[in-house]
Amino acid sequence: MNRIAKTLEDPNHDYYIYDLTELKNRINWIRSVTKHDIYYAVKANSNLKILETLLPFVSGFEVASSGEIEKVRSLSSDIPIIYGGPVKTKRHLEYALEEHVKSIQVESLFELDYLKDLLKDTNQTIEVMIRINLSNIKSTARLKMAGVPTQFGMPYSDINEAMQICKETKGITFTGFHFHSMSNNLDEDAHVTFIESAVEFTNQYKAHLPEDYSINVGGGIGIDYDEQKLFDFDYFATRIHHLPRLTFELGRFVTGPIGYYAANVFDIKSMHDKTFVLLNGGTNHFRFPKAWNHNQPYEILESKETIARTKSITDDTVVFAGKLCTPNDVFGQPYKINHIKTGDWVVFKYAGSYGYDISHLQFLSHELPVIRYI
Ligand SMILES: *Cc1c(COP(=O)(O)O)cnc(C)c1O
Repeated sequence: MNRIAKTLEDPNHDYYIYDLTELKNRINWIRSVTKHDIYYAVKANSNLKILETLLPFVSGFEVASSGEIEKVRSLSSDIPIIYGGPVKTKRHLEYALEEHVKSIQVESLFELDYLKDLLKDTNQTIEVMIRINLSNIKSTARLKMAGVPTQFGMPYSDINEAMQICKETKGITFTGFHFHSMSNNLDEDAHVTFIESAVEFTNQYKAHLPEDYSINVGGGIGIDYDEQKLFDFDYFATRIHHLPRLTFELGRFVTGPIGYYAANVFDIKSMHDKTFVLLNGGTNHFRFPKAWNHNQPYEILESKETIARTKSITDDTVVFAGKLCTPNDVFGQPYKINHIKTGDWVVFKYAGSYGYDISHLQFLSHELPVIRYI
């Protein structure tokens, strides 16, 4: 926290702090304990310095838009890119081919029609994987993309036609299936079971796969916002060691813990029977705790400055609110507070993924948060 405190110079701003040293250590550790391929899912945090820090350590990047492809390609012209997402227009696919992505995860026959058309009369080649929504996944993960009906994946009834199009299109190499299925899973054994079903599914199609096929199991490994249980990646790595080659696309697990969002306490108000701590920040800059309607872990950094008027509270339950003109601008559920006073900094932890990137930054046209790197 000391290193963070040093960056918080001006209470007129709110801040994101990204610990790039910790990020480097973390990705190095994840990569070193498993032989499987680790891609980084750019949507979790697409900050260029973060991508640049990860670049030497990852097998590549997983992207879901032309903008994400552009960001990755601005750093490297040849790092492998896996391109996914449920709606890829012909123009998107054309751009992906132009930028030489390694692999496209298709989940619609329309995408394959467009690819076939785009590859006609060219010498270009592209790897294609088919995204599957397995029906037999049991999970306690926070968000589910598979195992339940969702918009993701190729309908089972279209799989044969999809493989047929791949086979008859000269530039396409069909390399297997993609199974990204959940978000924020904290149960290592459940994740292994999910991966085993992906392996089992893939085995049915072995005759159609090249020798060096890989099974893409996506991301979804979680961090515990209650700070009770860590996903034990070391243990998990030993459980998947014997499996055929897997590709992971990790987002939250890589960048979540290395980011912080800090805002200064502007005022403290008792309104009817509730206490509000007003922060010079907002859910426009850090939407995540509101999106999940939870308590985001935080620390308070005490202000040493004295100003004429100070308000403080002790042992209370408070609502952290921001500066937007809507009662919805609160940082999730009420928080238990030991002591806080105006001028202190509230530093929310685990803000490195789905923080800045999922926030509605334009709302009310406030100046953007300042980003600092340590
Ligand atoms: C979001 C996403 C990921 C990363 O998910 P995390 O839960 O952040 O690890 C990986 N693959 C795909 C296809 C995604 O949509």
